[in-house]
Amino acid sequence: MTPDATDIRQALKACFGYDSFRPMQEDIVRHLLAGQDALVLMPTGGGKSVCYQLPALLLEGTAVVVSPLISLMKDQVEALQANGIAAAALNSQNDDTQNAAVRRACAEGRLKLLYISPEKLQAECGYLLRDMQVSLLAVDEAHCISQWGHDFRPEYAQIGQVRRQLPNVPVVALTATADKLTRQDIVEQLRLRAPRVFLSSFDRPNLSLAVERGYTRQEKDEALAEFVAARPGQCGIVYCLSRRTAESVAQMLCGEGVRAAAYHAGLSVEERGKVQDGFINDRVRVVCATVAFGMGIDKSNVRWVVHYNLPKSMEEFYQEIGRAGRDGLPGDTLLFYSVGDVVQLSRFADESGRREVNIEKLRRMREYAEAVVCRRRVLLSYFGEAVDHDCGNCDVCRNPPRRVDGSVLVQKALSAVVRAGQQVASGTLAHILHGDAVPEVLSGGYQRLKTFGAGRDVGLQGWRDYLLQMLQLGYVEIAYNEGNHLKVTQAGADVLYGRARAWLVAAEGRHKVARPGSRHRVTQGAEEAGSLVEALRRLRQQLADEEVLPPYVVLSDKTLFLLGVRQPVTLEQFGGIEGVSEYKKRKYGKPFVDLIRRYLRGG
Ligand code: ADP
Ligand code: ZN
Repeated sequence: MTPDATDIRQALKACFGYDSFRPMQEDIVRHLLAGQDALVLMPTGGGKSVCYQLPALLLEGTAVVVSPLISLMKDQVEALQANGIAAAALNSQNDDTQNAAVRRACAEGRLKLLYISPEKLQAECGYLLRDMQVSLLAVDEAHCISQWGHDFRPEYAQIGQVRRQLPNVPVVALTATADKLTRQDIVEQLRLRAPRVFLSSFDRPNLSLAVERGYTRQEKDEALAEFVAARPGQCGIVYCLSRRTAESVAQMLCGEGVRAAAYHAGLSVEERGKVQDGFINDRVRVVCATVAFGMGIDKSNVRWVVHYNLPKSMEEFYQEIGRAGRDGLPGDTLLFYSVGDVVQLSRFADESGRREVNIEKLRRMREYAEAVVCRRRVLLSYFGEAVDHDCGNCDVCRNPPRRVDGSVLVQKALSAVVRAGQQVASGTLAHILHGDAVPEVLSGGYQRLKTFGAGRDVGLQGWRDYLLQMLQLGYVEIAYNEGNHLKVTQAGADVLYGRARAWLVAAEGRHKVARPGSRHRVTQGAEEAGSLVEALRRLRQQLADEEVLPPYVVLSDKTLFLLGVRQPVTLEQFGGIEGVSEYKKRKYGKPFVDLIRRYLRGG
């Protein structure tokens, strides 16, 4: 007998502690319970796990979940076990005894969910899978099956075979990234049968978006330190372009008293594991990483993501900011944008095997960074989603740019370029215009130019910003093979000689990076509960340490925050809070309720 809507909702609350479904979740659950195949496309943090975990609990037998990364499996299994659900993982990291125990549990039908690596799945095809009752096959990170995807894994190619062996089992493929080609490929290779495609919006309204332009290294460091200081106790990730930058940014933050660490491919496996574990357990607050970081973790309480350098593509950017705010509480994202990055990334793209594609991807990324309309609209339209309103949670919406007639500014800059024989790079040009007698200016004799110091009033950072805009508007171009010198284009010449006007976005009103995006809006009312939340957080850490679990697996940040606001004083009330399942109510209810009672008595 298939469960009805009430059964499904009750199970959602009892097993996971959630009162309601997120968009699409319920339809997907029902679809799978009806024995049908599905392809689920949902952004990171959208809540994909529940889509197959809930059917797994309601169906007879064991659901088999294929997952590409051992750390991901570990996270998921821990989270399920923390809700008292029988789940285990079969992979190469277990020893033989452990794997034997897991096999036995499967064969005896004691597990509701079995996580398995693609290699093991293939190896077990003829054995274990035959001995157990499979209720459902879920393929997580399904884009790994496609060569078109950005993360192709040959081991995934074999999963389709398994389908043949389990003809009557519903199959669900889940991914956060899939363009049309990848989507088709997933359906074909997994041999999905008349699958229904669930494509949810890629919008993450709880993430604020902001860009800061034209900062030097030092200014970025200062702004970042300020940004981190404005978010006490919060965990975040700083993405950097190079290992060296990751190291130096981590060092800078440590110098500010922040528990920060670097993470990149140059570290040993042990060192990386240590940083990742530290981050998961809230001991490391900030990880300064190259793109390698974040793939294999499900940490739900990453509160912010900063891009210290421009990412190579919107896909990369979206995936990385997506690691913030998975628990649904506000998360802040900030991107630093500078000419230096454009120069370097353009060179990478130029030298890469797929020049055209990569140049185009970089161009679209720059469009986001340079946007003077709502950034969320730019982001979502890149992913093919039409949006008809401004978001109100990006820097452009909050602080709309003011356009000014910048013809004179452009003329000053371009005439300096011409007078310097088109032999200066953007950084030097800013110093010339600002009138700084720095070595690179003096060595070229540029202090003798008529335009030296012609724009002192604009400020150095203002000039960097305007030069970035001039580049975007096509008034200058960069000769990457000639020391990155700026060259005046035809469009630039038109402005220089007064044949056309230039409209620029006023460069004033910056340095607002420290202010948290939408936090005040959503967490209002928690202010006075601040000290209680802190006490709740300490209790959570203590309980997590005792069980050697990540704190967010014990209770999510959101649940903690709700406890602080609602202040439940009975087990019943505690159980009503979002994120508190039956199991967690029984397990953690008493210590939390006791703490809240003591707090309310003023003790
Ligand atoms: P994904 O795998 O799509 O990145 P997850 O399945 O890890 O997302 O879910 C992201 C977060 O959302 C988790 O912290 C989870 O606890 C929470 N979540 C999922 N579904 C719900 C729901 N129906 N109500 C409240 N929180 C939810
Ligand atoms: Zn906006």
